[in-house]
Amino acid sequence: MRNYTQFYIDGQWTDPVAPARTAEVINPATEEVSGQISLGSSADVDKAVAAARRAFAGYSQTSVKERLDLLETIQAEYERRERELGEAITEEMGAPLSLGCGFHTLLGKGHLGTAIEVLKAFKFEEERGVTLIRKEPIGVCGLITPWNWPMNQTCVKIFPALATGCTMILKPPQLAPYSAQLLAEILHDSGVPAGVFNMIQGKGSEIGTALTTHEDVDMISFTGSEPVGVQIQKDAADTVKRVGLELGGKSAWIVLDDSDLGANVAAATAGMMGNSGQTCSAGSRLLVPSSRMDEVKAAAAEAANGVTVGDPTGNFAMGPVVSKSQYNIIQQYIEKGIEEGAELIAGGPGRPEGLDKGWYVKPTVFVGTNDMVIAREEIFGPVLVIIGYDDLDHAVEIANDSIFGLGGYVSGQDLETCREVSRKMRTGAIWVNGGFDFHAPFGGYKRSGNGREWGDYGFEEYLETKAVIGWNPA
Ligand code: NAD
Repeated sequence: MRNYTQFYIDGQWTDPVAPARTAEVINPATEEVSGQISLGSSADVDKAVAAARRAFAGYSQTSVKERLDLLETIQAEYERRERELGEAITEEMGAPLSLGCGFHTLLGKGHLGTAIEVLKAFKFEEERGVTLIRKEPIGVCGLITPWNWPMNQTCVKIFPALATGCTMILKPPQLAPYSAQLLAEILHDSGVPAGVFNMIQGKGSEIGTALTTHEDVDMISFTGSEPVGVQIQKDAADTVKRVGLELGGKSAWIVLDDSDLGANVAAATAGMMGNSGQTCSAGSRLLVPSSRMDEVKAAAAEAANGVTVGDPTGNFAMGPVVSKSQYNIIQQYIEKGIEEGAELIAGGPGRPEGLDKGWYVKPTVFVGTNDMVIAREEIFGPVLVIIGYDDLDHAVEIANDSIFGLGGYVSGQDLETCREVSRKMRTGAIWVNGGFDFHAPFGGYKRSGNGREWGDYGFEEYLETKAVIGWNPA
């Protein structure tokens, strides 16, 4: 049992200001209580913001060398405790251990290493004629994160904020609070100065709102669902904060007719089931040539049926989804797909055979149309919708016919055609035949948000631009 009832404020582990209220944390694989956290209040937020404001005066003036030394110390400590972080992720949100201790923690480490690389080369000052343009840290930042890739989303915020000289208060997700608690320990043990990093656990409606409405918070970086992002934008408006929003998606994966269709459909289907489908940029709409739908169905059904589901501490490809409520929402979407007349070719309602405890969902594949609810709304579970297209213009039209614009995928042999399709898709990131790049900006068009994280673009989120005119005499 984990007993994480203290917050990290002003360089110390501290009890909540108000008499303790606690919340149980449930292991989604067992449905049993795995620990508890305290639920903070606005009084804790006031305390943390005051500490971050005090610390900003000194930390914002540190040299690049001092911040690099700090990040490198954190890197060594992160690597030392990586296994523990991975195990915490498996326990809190149900990712298979191989994924929790693999790609999950690797993403956090990758953002840390990238922040170090970017900081080494980043130009904080530039002279242009009579003017000096300075990039300065924006101030005290509120960082609000979701549960689905917990280390990715906290590290992609914390390390650019630290690198640019900001101070911060992290509000981790209530469903998955453990890995953030360990990360706070790592930062403490690495000697992050008091008040620079603070962490308060609790409810979004309380801690989150206290941060977004706070007079002395300069910036909010939020990753989460679109409705909460809309609320945050409104809550932050009265204090004219900068708000970076990284929201949901309904990304399209276009498979070209020239490709090895079976292999690409299998890869896209298995990709959709990774992390139990709980990935904001997952290719949840698979667009394929209508003329080859029979081949596609066979490949997708085989791939989905081949995904092993079970205990995340065992040897399975897919664990449970994060919670009972998430399970119920996904089940409702599966029922909706059937009711709408989509053709179910793999999976379906209920738990996989043999699993009667834990929030396990069957890897599910539908063939449908883009006007169906299952093709329009973010399900955030292992549910793929295959849609046929007549030609490439039609494929692009379907891909862009969404309120979201986060990710996109193109698979095909002819690179020029893939590139042409990538230019036409209205999304923040497109992967052409796979690939991965920690330096590529990540963020959404349309209702997928307005921020850009990762690499040097991630630094800009935490910087103000100052012009000093007359720096050089005319
Ligand atoms: P969520 O919006 O329910 O919660 C995200 C965070 O916001 C949590 O810490 C929550 O406590 C907090 N919160 C809730 N209400 C709040 C309020 N009124 N004010 C301030 N904070 C509040 O999202 P979730 O269910 O944790 O995560 C899943 C969502 O996140 C999906 O929609 C997914 O697509 C999205 N996501 C986006 C990205 C991206 O980079 N674009 C990455 C991962 C996840």
